[in-house]
Amino acid sequence: MADLWMTCGIEIHQQLDTKKLFCSCTTELVEEPGMELHRRLRPTQSELGEVDRAALAQAERKMRFRYLAPSRVCCLVEEDEEPPHDADAQAIETTLTFSSLLGAKVVDEVHFMRKIVIDGSNTAGFQRTALVAVDGALEIEGKRISIQSICLEEDAARKMEAKGQEITYKLDRLGIPLIEVATGPDMHSPEEVKEVAARLGSLLRATKRVKRGLGTIREDLNISIPGGARVEVKGVQELRMLPEYVQREVDRQRSLLEVRELLGLRNALPIHANIVDLTEVLRASKSKVIAGALSKGGRVLGASLPGFEGLMKSPDGRLRLGAEMAQRARMRAGVMGIFHSDELPGYGISPEEVAGMRSALAIEAEGAFAICADEAGRAEAALRAAVDRANIAFEGVPEETRDPLPDGSTAYSRPLPGASRMYPETDVKPITITEGRMEEIRSKLPELPEQKVHRFVAKYGIHEQQARQIVRDGYEDLFEEVAMRFDLAAVAARTLLSTLPEIQKEGADITKLDDPALLRAFGALHDGRFAKEALPQVLKKTCEGKSIDEAIDDLGLQRMDSGEAGSVVAEIVKEREAFVREKGMGAVGPLMGPVMERLRGKVDGRTASELLKKEISRLLEG
Ligand SMILES: [Zn+2]
Repeated sequence: MADLWMTCGIEIHQQLDTKKLFCSCTTELVEEPGMELHRRLRPTQSELGEVDRAALAQAERKMRFRYLAPSRVCCLVEEDEEPPHDADAQAIETTLTFSSLLGAKVVDEVHFMRKIVIDGSNTAGFQRTALVAVDGALEIEGKRISIQSICLEEDAARKMEAKGQEITYKLDRLGIPLIEVATGPDMHSPEEVKEVAARLGSLLRATKRVKRGLGTIREDLNISIPGGARVEVKGVQELRMLPEYVQREVDRQRSLLEVRELLGLRNALPIHANIVDLTEVLRASKSKVIAGALSKGGRVLGASLPGFEGLMKSPDGRLRLGAEMAQRARMRAGVMGIFHSDELPGYGISPEEVAGMRSALAIEAEGAFAICADEAGRAEAALRAAVDRANIAFEGVPEETRDPLPDGSTAYSRPLPGASRMYPETDVKPITITEGRMEEIRSKLPELPEQKVHRFVAKYGIHEQQARQIVRDGYEDLFEEVAMRFDLAAVAARTLLSTLPEIQKEGADITKLDDPALLRAFGALHDGRFAKEALPQVLKKTCEGKSIDEAIDDLGLQRMDSGEAGSVVAEIVKEREAFVREKGMGAVGPLMGPVMERLRGKVDGRTASELLKKEISRLLEG
């Protein structure tokens, strides 16, 4: 299994900070629920052609859709009660600019198409999307990364809740313009994926028309390894998590290939699900899950899995087919989960009960089994889903779409959709892109990230490495505002790049520190309300929801004038007179600790050091 390596392509969806794509509603997400609409989507056979795999998986679940339509941010267009208006000119302009930044070839005419969507996230049952440019590139450390396509499309409605068979969406997000940019499968390491995503992010921000903040940029990862299959991890929101998702998916695919190999070595064969009622074996079980299901009139059903022992959860934790089977069971049957024999005895199920089940199911050597405790029909559907997933293990890695989870792992979400079915959107006029228009766009391209890095170094005197990181991490606008308004370039660079990660590590919720909050803190520092050494403490208090005034109060940071600070220093020197006489000026270093303990945040470090030197020489000379 050595030397298997990976291939990854990414697709980025970036919300634009313009009006909505097909109406003039504003593009903000709101708290209020607004009025309620109900729809049941019925994609017709003719619309779907031969029924799509993903459509089928969805239809099996028979969902109902409920929509919340806050009138402040949506109109009849989002409700699908009125045809779309002309595409937003600024959104088109921004997409053309971004395409030029990547050297991509812009199409002669932009045609919007309808892409069938069956999860209810679009009230119309389709998403409008238009190809704007193809065949661009970007260079990362001398390597060319191809850009396959740049599209302009509308964002989907926001999923608020999924309860039983009903999904609730809010229409505030529906129709927000998105640039969708897709790279070729050109990345070969988790870190490279992160670099490319960061560069695309900074090029998008260079247009100055993109939304900022969590959820405004989403990444899809297409990952495969030799012998594996294409798996799409869809909707990653945090850039810093990208390498983790990539690495874990590579590990998952490797372990599935190992499972396939082991099944081959064992001469195992695909399983015909044979569901056996084990209720009587577990009638007196101490397991809470089992007892709970039985008390509600449920049954415990089991299915044997010949040849699967140790593959669902290996002792070293590497093989985890059981987790995949449980995900499918939950998804298809809506059960809480299943138990499999690699994790039993356990969960309150005793060794005797396991032995009883093994004998009732006639388990042989290398054999395994799975059980589910629920209402009989649901339990059976869950076990059939689990057995279906076990059988896919004979093929190795199935192509599928997976959801990113906060801990860096992923969960099965649905089969990989077939090629999208597209139909012309006849309600939106095509947009002709003339050479003249492109010349105009190219003549006023925004500053490129690389140029910005050099300008920051030259203008504000920060290190190139810092400037690069500021631009990469998306702090460029905030940094420049602090540098210009408050003349605090060095402090801003250090704070954004080092202090924020540090206080986050110490447990501060730095998502509270949006740009306005940071600007208020830098402003207060600039006004001399506290010394720069106190900035990390002030920011921490801000993360706890305190205002700047409250933070200054809480921390006792009211600045001291130098007379007052001088007498504190004199007092400290006096208390240590013998030490000072022995060490002479060598006492300055050791005494800075006690001095700063008393003065931190009230005077800056340099002033404290000067006062200390002055007091020590006064004592020595006096
Ligand atoms: Zn609208």
